[in-house]
Amino acid sequence: LSGTSKVVVVGGGAAGCIIAARLSEDPARAVVLVEAGHDYAPGATPAGVLDARYVPMRGHAPEFDPDHDWGLVAHSRGGAGINVPQGRLIGGGGAINGAISLRGALADYEEWVGFGNPNWTSDDVLPFFRKIESDAAPGNEIHGQEGPIPLNRATDEELAPLQAAFIESAVATGADYVWDLNSPDAHGVGPVPVARIGDRRVSSAEAYLEPARSRPNVEVRGDTLVRRVVFNGTRAVGVELGDGSVLEADEVIVTAGAILTPALLQRSGVGRADLVAELGQELVVDLPVGENLGDHFAIPLVAVPKPGVWSPDQFSLQAAYRFSTQAQPDSLDGQLTMFTYLNTRTTGDGTRGLAGEGTTAVENVAGIGCVLNKPRSLGAVRARSMDPAELPDVDPNYLDQEIDRTAIREIVRTGWKVITTAPLADMLEEPIGMDAATIAEDAALDAAIAEKTASGYHFNGTCLMAPADRGGVVDEQGKVHGTSGLWVMDASVVPTTPAANTMLTTYMVAERLATMHLQGARERVGAMQLDSAGEAR
Ligand SMILES: Cc1cc2nc3c(=O)[nH]c(=O)nc-3n(C[C@H](O)[C@H](O)[C@H](O)COP(=O)(O)OP(=O)(O)OC[C@H]3O[C@@H](n4cnc5c(N)ncnc54)[C@H](O)[C@@H]3O)c2cc1C
Repeated sequence: LSGTSKVVVVGGGAAGCIIAARLSEDPARAVVLVEAGHDYAPGATPAGVLDARYVPMRGHAPEFDPDHDWGLVAHSRGGAGINVPQGRLIGGGGAINGAISLRGALADYEEWVGFGNPNWTSDDVLPFFRKIESDAAPGNEIHGQEGPIPLNRATDEELAPLQAAFIESAVATGADYVWDLNSPDAHGVGPVPVARIGDRRVSSAEAYLEPARSRPNVEVRGDTLVRRVVFNGTRAVGVELGDGSVLEADEVIVTAGAILTPALLQRSGVGRADLVAELGQELVVDLPVGENLGDHFAIPLVAVPKPGVWSPDQFSLQAAYRFSTQAQPDSLDGQLTMFTYLNTRTTGDGTRGLAGEGTTAVENVAGIGCVLNKPRSLGAVRARSMDPAELPDVDPNYLDQEIDRTAIREIVRTGWKVITTAPLADMLEEPIGMDAATIAEDAALDAAIAEKTASGYHFNGTCLMAPADRGGVVDEQGKVHGTSGLWVMDASVVPTTPAANTMLTTYMVAERLATMHLQGARERVGAMQLDSAGEAR
């Protein structure tokens, strides 16, 4: 491997592929990307992974491959297990997800700044959203057209009948039609931007890593589990792999996702002192790693399509409706996402099926995911042992805050209006597991919501970007407080759940942190040269 400064990137997911690609643009760095799941060589990715028409996850589509999922089960407030798919392959979540590519609200970045991150305003991040994408939208100051990730919206001809009907029904209930849901703070319904070319999902593994693979300073190691970061005092000097061997490094960058990054740090001695002690590790630095866990959660409203309405060649996710509830006006905290296909078979492991009780007698349903996009309830992740194969304890703590319970009621009621309004209502049988009487009454609706709450798979926040004296784990450049040589650059650092599906925000964070990292290093080198050229020392 060429390059003199060795960088180990842990986790070849959505963010990790971008970090490895960008940092290896510097020929002085030798970048080793370590991924627990399979690394598919260019052209060898299975068709089920690439097929953007479905989300190849457990209980969702026939293409589901258990090798590509960590098989995580979360327990919100000790309740029933909730299946939480998390990508375990090169590209991570971005390789198997819905590919919905929405930006958050401008107000999200006021929150980031409020956490003590003055350099993360909406103006600061806009160039990086532009840098990521080649958006089919007309060129303007909002959209990029030269980035690696292709963004497309379904044309009227491409919209599946149920998706077109969803848009029409939402408009009939009072929503504005919005073609570009990524225009700043767009409120309304329309075709959702998706990272795809035709029916092929395009992940950061394809868009960023593939072109970088041929560089002499890049190595990708698939099927390789990292156990912990190795320290010399508080300096990270490498990583220990599952087989006990050590990969030495000048810089360790962790991008294992918002669930597995905090667990990895905790196993490394970076975390709450009591937890690190429970794991039998020596404490490196006492930080609130694993706290501040955010996730969108969803209440599915489902029904069986009438005969002839649905066919297997249709895309599942094509349209969304974004709005603000009265609980948080202007926050874009409400989102309805139309799905055309959801397989309702139970998971067979005691956890409940995705569509909730009462739907297992039918095979496929369509419906609306009613999503709370600005949840205020925060959960936590805790490593259970030093074994990297043992998954951490995840408590998303959904519905803990009254404001979330109020907002989700309004979001479900908005979804109910849409699903019971023509033309969508005419294309579906009666909704399953929800009725007008339940919708009308707060207590009954609260009970139904509690029973149906599903993860949105949009975890974030567990290595909070904020100053150390304000509960932060990393600084504005992703550097872990109290350590050297160690950074986190994935969804874990996102301070507050964005008002949008999290992939695009994660890509933006990775692009920006990589840029800062390269610039920071140049400045550090520049400063050293200045010093040596200045006063004789
Ligand atoms: C089923 C599903 C559907 C989704 N749909 C959408 C959507 O439509 N739109 C959207 O915006 N977002 C969506 N998301 C969320 C989005 O995919 C995530 O926000 C994004 O992937 C987070 O990126 P990340 O890099 O932080 O983590 P990940 O993409 O999860 O990457 C982490 C990587 O690290 C690897 N790893 C973890 N631990 C270790 C270890 N110890 N050693 C080595 N490697 C390790 C993992 O295998 C994984 O490849 C979805 C997620 C899922 C799971």
